[in-house]
Amino acid sequence: MARYVGPSCRLCRREGKKMFLKGERCYTAKCAIERRSYAPGQHGQTGTRKLSTYGIQLREKQRAKRIYGLLERQFRRYFEKADRWRGVTGTILLQLLERRLDNIVFRLGFASSRHSARQMVRHGHILVNGKKVDIPSYLLSAGEEVQLVEKMRQTKQVLASLERAEKNGRVPWLEYNPQDFKGKMLTIPAREDIPMDIQEQVIIELYSK
Ligand code: SF4
Repeated sequence: MARYVGPSCRLCRREGKKMFLKGERCYTAKCAIERRSYAPGQHGQTGTRKLSTYGIQLREKQRAKRIYGLLERQFRRYFEKADRWRGVTGTILLQLLERRLDNIVFRLGFASSRHSARQMVRHGHILVNGKKVDIPSYLLSAGEEVQLVEKMRQTKQVLASLERAEKNGRVPWLEYNPQDFKGKMLTIPAREDIPMDIQEQVIIELYSK
């Protein structure tokens, strides 16, 4: 599946907010938002224009898409799926995004960013219910278990991101067992248990036009 391969920090600067796309660097003074908190490009420093309603909706959608590392077509497909299901569309959209295997690997702390988590899955370092799954978009259901393969457990990057995950705090809907490097999705997360400052309703309004 295609993905964005350009500079990640440029995306954060475009949105004017940290999206934590680069792992450990995002927590340091090297973060581009800390150093240059204006939009990228020639006119980045010429001040901010007041956004129209459409502009606000568009920016919110772009931000959500970029946080989860998806392209427009993939992101729209999640919206269409959420729209077909019964319930609050915005919440279902976020739940679908959160249930992706690459996101779960990131939330468990095996990788320091969703991008590295996706690589890990792709390279076959992740087991779901004891079997290798190398599809980052695999949707987890409640009760399913995700484990890191043995050969990756003591790598410097994994240990550092696990430490970071402990420091940042874990989400209540994922149970983590440090002995086995294994996590379990206890339930589909409620909106209040998804730590994302995304205004999903604004995105739904954009797509529902
Ligand atoms: Fe965004 Fe991280 Fe780059 Fe900072 S370091 S601009 S948070 S990707």
